[in-house]
Amino acid sequence: MIIQYYVGASDGDIDVVRKTIKGWGFRVQPNPGEAGDSPEARIQVDNVFGAVTDTHRREVASFDCVKTVIPIEGVPQNLSLIRRGAHHSVEIPMPGGGTVKIGGNNPLVVMAGVCAVDADYTLPSHQMAKRAGADINRGGAFKPRTSPYDFQGLKEDGLKVLCEARDAVGLPVISEILDVRDIDLFMKYDVDILQTGTRNAQNFELLIEVGKTQKPVLYKRGFSNSIEESLKAANYIMEQGNENLIFCLRGVKGIGHSFRNQGDLDEIVSLAQTIDRPIVYDVSHSTGRKSGVARVGGMAAAGGADGLLVDVHVSPQHALVDGFQAIDSEDELRGMIDAWRQLRELGRRLH
Ligand code: PEP
Ligand code: MN
Repeated sequence: MIIQYYVGASDGDIDVVRKTIKGWGFRVQPNPGEAGDSPEARIQVDNVFGAVTDTHRREVASFDCVKTVIPIEGVPQNLSLIRRGAHHSVEIPMPGGGTVKIGGNNPLVVMAGVCAVDADYTLPSHQMAKRAGADINRGGAFKPRTSPYDFQGLKEDGLKVLCEARDAVGLPVISEILDVRDIDLFMKYDVDILQTGTRNAQNFELLIEVGKTQKPVLYKRGFSNSIEESLKAANYIMEQGNENLIFCLRGVKGIGHSFRNQGDLDEIVSLAQTIDRPIVYDVSHSTGRKSGVARVGGMAAAGGADGLLVDVHVSPQHALVDGFQAIDSEDELRGMIDAWRQLRELGRRLH
């Protein structure tokens, strides 16, 4: 387990917690924090090693100086993405100069675009998203599918369409990379954010390769992975030397629910307290239903998400993938984005 103490927790109080843990026979390793964090702003973090149970975690959490207990076991070194006081944001270059900043105290970032890049509708869909207030365009050229017999994307032609649209629209683009063999292709087209998808959440070879680049990486939680597993995998990307990590939740396979996936919205609240990197919620793939997007997006924004991913398409009946969940009205999208931004600011009061 990992323990975060409140800023300003006294050495004496922290010592009582450590003695209690050592009394159970566990090893406590104080985490030194990052160079550059000022002592007043730094959150003291301890790693605890041993056969920790829920009962131990609850007891530790009941000390007044303890802010959060994170149930991550077996991590051999410090988790780079654990919050120690700093609010790291990730900067994404804009095609015309300047950057989009996500995380920390920056406004909500909306990443909107087609699920799968197509030749005819990607540009108008991405222009529509921009007019409605989106900051970044999303579009898949390589599509992971539930059935291998379904359309798997336009591949390199799709990247070409996506990046030509980027130049015309003027917003950065995010696209999913499925395979280590495609890294050079994504570099050639200079895709601004590399997305690793839910089906690749534990494809460690891929995580190593995206981690070796300095590109922002949006890591999606695996739909059957625990938060602990996902945090370790995301941390592994950072350990390769890439600090530009964005952690994305997108719902999980649940035990019976009304939407496409079982929402994992409450994890936003927990992650915002524990990790130091921007958190995005994919409201289209979690709900899988156009009618769910506005309000669930609002819940995510109010809950502390730094960004939202949303599928849009100007002609959903012609969408190659997931047209049923795409927003097709510019006015509706504008209304959602406005409301989401306000809800994110309101949510900041709910600490
Ligand atoms: C996507 O974003 O297009 C996608 C396929 O998402 P996920 O990996 O979350 O299913
Ligand atoms: Mn999709």
